[in-house]
Amino acid sequence: VREIHLASRPARVPEAANFRFVERTLGSPRAGEVLVKNLYLSVDPYMRGRMRDAPSYIPPFELDAPLAGGAVGVVVESGSESLSPGDHVVHDLGWRTHALADAEAFRAVEPVAGVPLSAFLGVLGMPGLTAYVGVSDIARVSTGDTVFVSGAAGAVGSLAGQLARHRGAARVIGSAGSSMKVEHLVDDLGFDTAFDYRKVDVADRLKALAPDGLNVYFDNVGGQQLEAAVENLGNGGRVAMCGWISDFHAREPAGLRNGRLMVAKRLTLQGFIVSDHRHREPEFRKEVGALLAGGGITFRETVITGIDYTVDAFIGLFEGHNVGKMIVDVAGE
Ligand code: NDP
Repeated sequence: VREIHLASRPARVPEAANFRFVERTLGSPRAGEVLVKNLYLSVDPYMRGRMRDAPSYIPPFELDAPLAGGAVGVVVESGSESLSPGDHVVHDLGWRTHALADAEAFRAVEPVAGVPLSAFLGVLGMPGLTAYVGVSDIARVSTGDTVFVSGAAGAVGSLAGQLARHRGAARVIGSAGSSMKVEHLVDDLGFDTAFDYRKVDVADRLKALAPDGLNVYFDNVGGQQLEAAVENLGNGGRVAMCGWISDFHAREPAGLRNGRLMVAKRLTLQGFIVSDHRHREPEFRKEVGALLAGGGITFRETVITGIDYTVDAFIGLFEGHNVGKMIVDVAGE
């Protein structure tokens, strides 16, 4: 097995030197255990948070131990009656070529016709559920809303924008970090309009695009775009606070200089963590699965081939190298 370990804790944006590749031998599964060959690995922004040695909603990664991330694999040997060789599974023992663990660590999935298995790490997986919960339960998007989504070309944002439309939003505005991504939002994902947040004053642009105010902001990035959204939310506006990825580049953590507007406009800003909302998975899979099958939503993946490029794929998230979900195809088979 080839594994990726955390060698040191990144100070800001992670660097290759923070990681180490380690080879070791795995035995055969004992009773109750399963050996899985990983096919696709997920690299996710939240993993950056776990590289910090600080208390959070999820424990920090240990140094000199394999990193754990989402993965899709195939069972190669089984000591459990619940899984058989050839079964496809989703699990959290990624960042390695093979995983050996109790059968309970793996969840069997049925491949969906016309959808790659890697989708269980994106549109049909954790980021998809995040978008679903954020739009439906946190921001409660409903008919006629004007919705702004940042990080809109990423795994969570691309589905959040499309789901907002299916919830009846009148206008869906997206922001992303390149003109190619901006075109993708409008041409492929059905956003009404979009802009490159690096090239404009976000507050001014939102004012021009939504002169009557935003009803909802789906926040994937925090920082300046959150401040600009608060400036432009209408009375009673709702914010689903999903992520704060802009902080990893910032020398100083950003604050909300216009926080007083939250009072005057009676805004609701609600943070959420997807793992608290697992009970929504059945409805999520049913609705998003049907929308996918019927062509009502679409998704992209950026697939990097070869486990040796996992670290580059991860670092690439903080440089905007991905359109849609960033995936590592372990062996490129
Ligand atoms: P993405 O697929 O969106 O990839 C990350 C993207 O972030 C990049 O492609 C890049 O796009 C953008 N980005 C990077 N740096 C900055 C910056 N300084 N300012 C603005 N945008 C930046 O990742 P996910 O869809 O997986 O995650 C999106 C957000 O949701 C993250 O903040 C993540 O932490 C959060 N999240 C939260 C969960 C929860 O439970 N609350 C669960 C899952 C994700 P661009 O080119 O547009 O800059």
